[in-house]
Amino acid sequence: NYGTAAAIEEPIKPSVSIEHTKLLINGQFVDSVSGKTFPTFDPRTGEVITHVAEGGKEDVDLAVAVARKAFDEGPWPKMTAYERSLVLLRFADLLEKHTEELAKLETWDNGKPYEQALNVELPICVRLIRYYAGWADKIHGLTAQADGPHHVQTLHEPIGVCGQIIPWNFPLLMFVWKVGPALATGNTIVLKTAEQTPLSANFAAKLLLQAGLPDGVLNVISGFGPTAGAPLASHMDVDKLAFTGSTETGKIVQSLAAQSNLKPVTLELGGKSPFIIAADADVDQAVELAHFALFFNQGQCCCAGSRTFVHESIYDEFVSKATARAIKRTVGDPFKAGIEQGPQIDPEQFDKVLSYIKSGNESGATLETGGNRIGSTGYFVEPTVFSNVTDDMKIAKDEIFGPVQSILKFKDLDEVIRRANATRYGLAAGVFTKNIDTANTLTRALRVGTVWVNCFDVFDAAIPFGGYKMSGIGREKGIYSLHNYLQVKAVVEPLKNPAW
Ligand code: NAD
Repeated sequence: NYGTAAAIEEPIKPSVSIEHTKLLINGQFVDSVSGKTFPTFDPRTGEVITHVAEGGKEDVDLAVAVARKAFDEGPWPKMTAYERSLVLLRFADLLEKHTEELAKLETWDNGKPYEQALNVELPICVRLIRYYAGWADKIHGLTAQADGPHHVQTLHEPIGVCGQIIPWNFPLLMFVWKVGPALATGNTIVLKTAEQTPLSANFAAKLLLQAGLPDGVLNVISGFGPTAGAPLASHMDVDKLAFTGSTETGKIVQSLAAQSNLKPVTLELGGKSPFIIAADADVDQAVELAHFALFFNQGQCCCAGSRTFVHESIYDEFVSKATARAIKRTVGDPFKAGIEQGPQIDPEQFDKVLSYIKSGNESGATLETGGNRIGSTGYFVEPTVFSNVTDDMKIAKDEIFGPVQSILKFKDLDEVIRRANATRYGLAAGVFTKNIDTANTLTRALRVGTVWVNCFDVFDAAIPFGGYKMSGIGREKGIYSLHNYLQVKAVVEPLKNPAW
């Protein structure tokens, strides 16, 4: 029943005004040097929401110069850590106060269900900023025991001007994951938003200014990858680069960083995460969790559980129940209450998802449900389930980034471990079992950055997130993210009287 998609013929108009469509440089929203703008679209209809300033190399140069000055001359890195913490706490309060407007912008620009943006993502953003506000005044070095007559201490200092490039699937969440730890540790920032979703980050940046962030500490550039992202990645005066997006673009930005000033790079890239359901699992619960693991956010999650491995003894029952669950999924206008799935982000992603469905059909997987576009406006795709998927199929190997579940069959643990690990990715995995030995074996054997046991997509601020292999370099969130934004300085002083 995909009748709800008809609702998009009369899209609900969000009651939110769009105030900031320009570049944020040195505390001011300004036009780009070229004066160029570009449209951002409503994925429900493909219609233009508004036009935003298109940043290019000249704007990146200006923003980096301002961030450099704000770092070198202060006051931000030289303020007390407590004062920085208070700015972040005020920012969290403002995010909370403006939750509805931010969630509306997020849904309008991205197409995700409003209830998800409002009730799940915004609270996570607020909590994450408070978490890093708490760290700001707890960052300190060590004293070390040297062999010689020396007093040795380490200072943990901010790394400098940070370039940050974020994707469109969680625009605000990615914004706070990046700026939270960088600001808590006293850095300055030039952040490039994704060209598909520039609106919510601009709003949030304005709230940071209201919270007391000094001018020039955070600069936000809207624009395209090759013309705004690449100049940031290759800038000689950027001290660190953090990127989230595709593995292909991750390779490009890392090489730009290496070819310019060898700035350290953290990367959070794609995935093809296994979700392994053992023979002892409660099938109904497993179906629901595997469904959530794949379909959440229109399937546009880097960590989506996109290879559902099911033990052969429960395979047929699982497939039939997973299919029934997908058929029940409510798809439609993401502003409507009770809608679980909105449109894909843009025509490119929409076409890509449909082409993977075609490939699944051609390679001999069994299409259990879905497979088509819904309606004739926007980028809605039917929740799609393939069974009898084998490891060699493209739909089992590539990141589809859409609402397409691939169900694979396995016989024993050693086999599923080998197959789950036979991928260039290593972002996350799900394990569903009541047997503690099975859980312990899998958590240790899987070569991934996160294993969710009997749960999925738990994104607490304290839990580190990042990938093995080609899913990335480094970790975000938790204490680990702080290290991405700190330099360690060893200070060595001779001891006059080593006896004491
Ligand atoms: P992308 O990696 O191209 O874009 C991510 C960010 O990188 C955007 O801000 C973009 O403008 C920027 N960028 C693009 N080219 C650049 C360049 N040459 N130099 C510097 N910055 C550049 O991702 P996409 O094209 O939006 O999506 C393609 C695929 O990436 C998706 O289908 C999906 O598989 C994957 N993806 C993964 C994530 C994730 O969270 N890991 C997020 C979005 C997309």
